[in-house]
Amino acid sequence: MTQKFTYETLPLHSTASNTKFEIDVWRYNHPDATKTVYLQGGIHGIELTGIPVVHEFIKEIEEHQLAYNFICVPLSNPMGLDSQIMGVQTGYNNIHTNQQNCWNWNRITNLKDEPSQEGHWIRTLLDLAEPANIVLDLHTAGVETVPHIYYHETEKEYADGLGIPHMLAWSTPSYSFADTHHQLGKIALTFELSSSRGVRSEWVEESLMYLRRFFGILPKAEGSRTWQVESQLKKWYSPEGGVLCWHIDAGDSVSEGDVIATLYTRQGSVELKSPYTGVLLLKNPAHAPHERQELAKFLVE
Ligand SMILES: [Zn+2]
Repeated sequence: MTQKFTYETLPLHSTASNTKFEIDVWRYNHPDATKTVYLQGGIHGIELTGIPVVHEFIKEIEEHQLAYNFICVPLSNPMGLDSQIMGVQTGYNNIHTNQQNCWNWNRITNLKDEPSQEGHWIRTLLDLAEPANIVLDLHTAGVETVPHIYYHETEKEYADGLGIPHMLAWSTPSYSFADTHHQLGKIALTFELSSSRGVRSEWVEESLMYLRRFFGILPKAEGSRTWQVESQLKKWYSPEGGVLCWHIDAGDSVSEGDVIATLYTRQGSVELKSPYTGVLLLKNPAHAPHERQELAKFLVE
């Protein structure tokens, strides 16, 4: 008998005009399954690539009749997705209805018992993922990035071989979705599939390759580099305000002292040199930074 997904819609809350926010859940149960997988996209509303990736991978699960149980939530944060200003996605934090603190949507599992919008929403997602042994949370990063994956240092075997260029091992958990599930004893990985705010078909296709390798549809790949988050992931801040013109791309290797950007200030242009030897992991969205605004993240050798 061919296993098919079934579909359910869960209510979250309604707006002032009584528009409903809802979450769609797709479930698949295989008779030979020994493990349950929770696969979600879109927890940050500016991070779009994971949403089509989950929709496409649902088709592949059925096509290959994968011997797992799946709980799939392609669009886990409709409030985030619907947050845009003049056509630009802004749903990284809850800036719509939370006037106090602009919660980062992926740092609030500690609010799960609070009767707020954020608390009810994250509780709904945590309850959905509760039966899972494996939690795969699909994100994107920066205005430009090279694909990477975050995993607890004890779970390297699950992040390795997927063909993702950079593997980032952490040891201290945050209140993120995946970190919280790691602490519950599950395999929990945070994928950073592509740049944020846009979607390109080649990003979707490359991301599907990662999932195919994870589930054995494709053989494992080599060539990922491993880094420690606490000691090797470094932020870089603008020395002064101005307009930033990059000379390198995310994913490029750099040496300390290389000229990597020009900053056009009121006094003229300043050449900005790489503060590190390593890899430019991602560029932040600000291209007209204020003094001390974060410009980028590096992986440092
Ligand atoms: Zn994210």
